[in-house]
Formats: sequence, C-alpha cells, structure tokens
Amino acid sequence: MKPVAIIGGGITGLTAAFKLEQLGISSTLFEAADRVGGVIQTLRDGEFLAECGPNTILETSPLIGDLVRDLGLEDRRIYSSDQAEKRYIVRNKRPFKLPGSPLEFLLTPLFSYRAKARLLLEPFIRRAPSEMEENLASFVQRRIGREFLDYAINPFVAGIYSGAPENLSVREAFPRLYALEQRYGSLILGQILGARERRRKGGVSRKNAPKFSFDEGLETLIQSLGEKLKKNIRTGQTISGITRKNGSWKVKSDTDTSRPDEEYSGVLLALPAFRLAELQVTCESRKVNLSMLSHIEYAPVASVVLGFHRKDVEHHLDGFGALNPEVEKLHSLGTIFSSSLFPGRAPDGQVLLTSYIGGLRAPHLVTKTPDEICDLVIEDLRVILGVRGEPTFKRTCFYPRAIPQYDVGYGRFKQFMTSLEQDESGLFFAGHCRDGVSLGDCIVSGHEAAGRIATNLNIST
Ligand SMILES: Cc1cc2nc3c(=O)[nH]c(=O)nc-3n(C[C@H](O)[C@H](O)[C@H](O)COP(=O)(O)OP(=O)(O)OC[C@H]3O[C@@H](n4cnc5c(N)ncnc54)[C@H](O)[C@@H]3O)c2cc1C
Repeated sequence: MKPVAIIGGGITGLTAAFKLEQLGISSTLFEAADRVGGVIQTLRDGEFLAECGPNTILETSPLIGDLVRDLGLEDRRIYSSDQAEKRYIVRNKRPFKLPGSPLEFLLTPLFSYRAKARLLLEPFIRRAPSEMEENLASFVQRRIGREFLDYAINPFVAGIYSGAPENLSVREAFPRLYALEQRYGSLILGQILGARERRRKGGVSRKNAPKFSFDEGLETLIQSLGEKLKKNIRTGQTISGITRKNGSWKVKSDTDTSRPDEEYSGVLLALPAFRLAELQVTCESRKVNLSMLSHIEYAPVASVVLGFHRKDVEHHLDGFGALNPEVEKLHSLGTIFSSSLFPGRAPDGQVLLTSYIGGLRAPHLVTKTPDEICDLVIEDLRVILGVRGEPTFKRTCFYPRAIPQYDVGYGRFKQFMTSLEQDESGLFFAGHCRDGVSLGDCIVSGHEAAGRIATNLNIST
C-alpha cells in the first residue's frame, strides 16, 4: 500500500505518524523547519533547563499516558510537585492564592464580600438558550458577576489562549463550561454533581488532571518520537500544494523538487490555520480553496525565561505560578514558577521563572526587542514577587502567531474541515486549529486522525 503523507511535524503530526506506524500503516512526514516539534522548544544551558514554548502536559485523556508508555518514556516522565496545585492571582500588585476549598473561598481577600455574595445567586440564574453562541465575558458576567470575570476568568484565559474573554466562544473554547450550564442549569451545581458522576465513572476533571513533563523537558518526547520515526521524517520541506488524481495523492515541496512522482494513499494536514490557508489543494482537477482559514485569529506571545539567585526572590514560589489580570495593568500575562514545578531546572541556590507577554491584550509588546521585553517582565517581577538583583539567566522567544482563538463563530471553521474530510477522499485535518489548543488535545487529535485514516483505508484498528 502507498504511504500516507503527513504535513507538519509538530506534536500532532508526530503522534499521528507514530500511531499509524503502530497500526502497520507507513507514512512520510514533511516538516518545513530543520527540526520536528513545532512550538515545543526546550533549551538546556548548563544547569538551566528552559521551556521556551509549552511547559506542561495536562493528562486529560488515557491516550496521553498510552503514548508515553508506548515510547518507553515512563521512567523519564516527571509529574509536577504537589505544590503546583497552588496558583496565585495578582490583585493590587500582590499575589493571592486562588482558594482551593469553600472555607478558603470565604476567607480569601482575593474576592470582595460583594462578589462572594453574588456567587450565591448563580444556581438561580436561568440557562441561556442552547442555540445561542455567547462570548465568555458575557457568560461569566451573567452567571457569576464582573469581579470573577476580571480576577478569575480574564487571567485564566490569558494563561490558556493569551486571548480575550470578550471574543472567545464559551461553546467552542470552553465546551465543559458550556455543557455544565446546559446540563445542570448552574456551574456550581454542575461542579458538585459532575464531580460525583466522574467519581462513579473513575474519570478526572481538567482541574484535577495530573501535569507532567520529562527529565530533559518536553523535547524528550519530541526526540523520542523523532528517533522512532526517523526513516519516515523529511525536515526542511515546505509543502505548498497537494493534488489528488485518480485516487492517489502527490505532494509539492517548494524546497525539494527531486521526488515529484511519489504517490500517497492519503494526506493528513497537521498545520497551523494560517499555513493551511496558503496551501494549494487540487482534488481530481478541482481546486479546493482553504483560504477562509486565514480568518482564524492567532494571539502573538513572547516567552521570557529568567534565572535568579534564590536569595534575590522574596516570594516562596510555592505553586504553579501567578497570573496577572488585565485590570492590574501589568506588562506580562503571568509567570510560571518553573523550578518549583519540576526538579532540575536551575542550579542549586537559584530559581527559574517563565513569563509570557503580549497576547491579544498587548500584541504590540511582541514587536519589542528581547532586551526591552526582558526589562518589562523584570519590572513586573520586582513588584509582584519581590525580585531583586539582576538575572543570572535570560532567554526570550517570539511566537508571532502562537495560539489560535476559538472565537464566537469558530464552529464554521471546524465544520469546514470536517466537511472536507467527508467530501474529499483521503484528505484529513488534525491539530490545534481543529481539536483544541492544549498539548493533550493535540496528542488526542493526532491519535484520532490516525484512527480515521486507518478506517478510511479499511484497516481495522
Ligand atoms: C508559547 C506557547 C506556550 C504554550 N504552553 C502550553 C502548555 O504549557 N501546555 C499545553 O498543553 N499547551 C501549550 N501551548 C499550546 C500547544 O503547545 C500547541 O497548541 C501545540 O503544540 C500545537 O501543536 P501542533 O502540532 O498542532 O502545531 P505546531 O506545533 O504549530 O506544528 C506545526 C508544524 O507544521 C510545520 N509547518 C508549517 N507550515 C508547513 C508547510 N507548509 N510544510 C511543512 N511543514 C509546515 C511547522 O514548522 C510546525 O513544525 C503553548 C503554545 C505556545 C505557542
């Protein structure tokens, strides 16, 4: 049988190629860059281990653990320390622990008494009609009030999407939240009843899902996938077009024109939306236009990884990190306490902090120079965490189109890709612009795409 072509060697494309291999289906993976891994970028510099892109994988599906096991990486996986359950939110420029129990919620100075009292009304607020597509800001304000939007949801959204609650669709970006209202009529009741149901079924909520990385960071996963698939991977290949003729696919590479006649039984597109939109697709002499996908907005982000002497940081750094609500008017979106989360990220007596800046909140900041961006982040860290002195380690990475925004109306893009899969034999889509933005979502997306390909090629999974 002809192999399957996979375009895009981020975690989605790699997972799909690995799963296909397990199913006995050969594939060739084309990657434009000179390395696979996409936005995952771990940097080892002496005793510092910096994640420039994503930091942690949330184990929300058993398929994620299966991948780690099948790669033989279980011994190298590191779950985050218990203290990572503690998260801080900044209010009046000071970090406050996000309450973890009803009693802590009653006592926390993070929310006013008025906001807490307002929450009691939540179970009595009517659910929105199911056909209405509401933005997250309006949903949260309607159900739990403005203060929770400003000091809980806004920073949380910055942490996941680097986006704006006013644009994001509750149904598309936070489907579980949408389902809680639709199913139980209340987020509070839904939390209680949903938790009971989950316990009965042995499931795990996103909030309680274990978080992990590896001894040498997320690059460990990429290197292992790269090693296992090395004979199937072609890096430095920018694919500009795909064509199906008489049921067989050909792939056009801008950078390697030496193998124009190679044929594939199918093509999996595991690309960012703005690259999908540029691709020339022809199916049996008919052009298929993907340009509408260029309307999917991406938030720009720069990550700043900084090392400091422990004695120069006043805060205990006893948690996952601190998120900065927009109303606090700080420069950065938030900071992960990387060396508290996983061991071996900084030399003895030092700490490592990873901050993010930009997002839809302040896209202009991502156009500044690395030194200017570092200075802005350090200015924030001095105020929030009591950082003194100069950093012992500095690294800035830019992602001008980092994270796709699942805004109101996003469903039409997903529907478009799903319809094309159904209508165009042998064409498949997967990845962060279709099935969810987290690494866990992308692993599941790659895995499931491989399953659909196998079914399509009549191979039993
Ligand atoms: C700064 C940052 C921090 C994040 N933090 C987290 C986190 O802590 N936890 C989490 O769960 N998620 C996080 N995410 C989200 C998550 O990392 C991404 O959604 C996920 O890695 C996307 O994987 P992907 O394979 O779908 O896409 P990508 O990683 O974008 O891979 C796509 C690949 O396609 C290649 N390509 C593009 N065009 C072509 C072409 N024409 N031909 C061939 N190849 C092409 C690209 O070079 C790239 O390698 C973060 C994202 C960013 C940017």
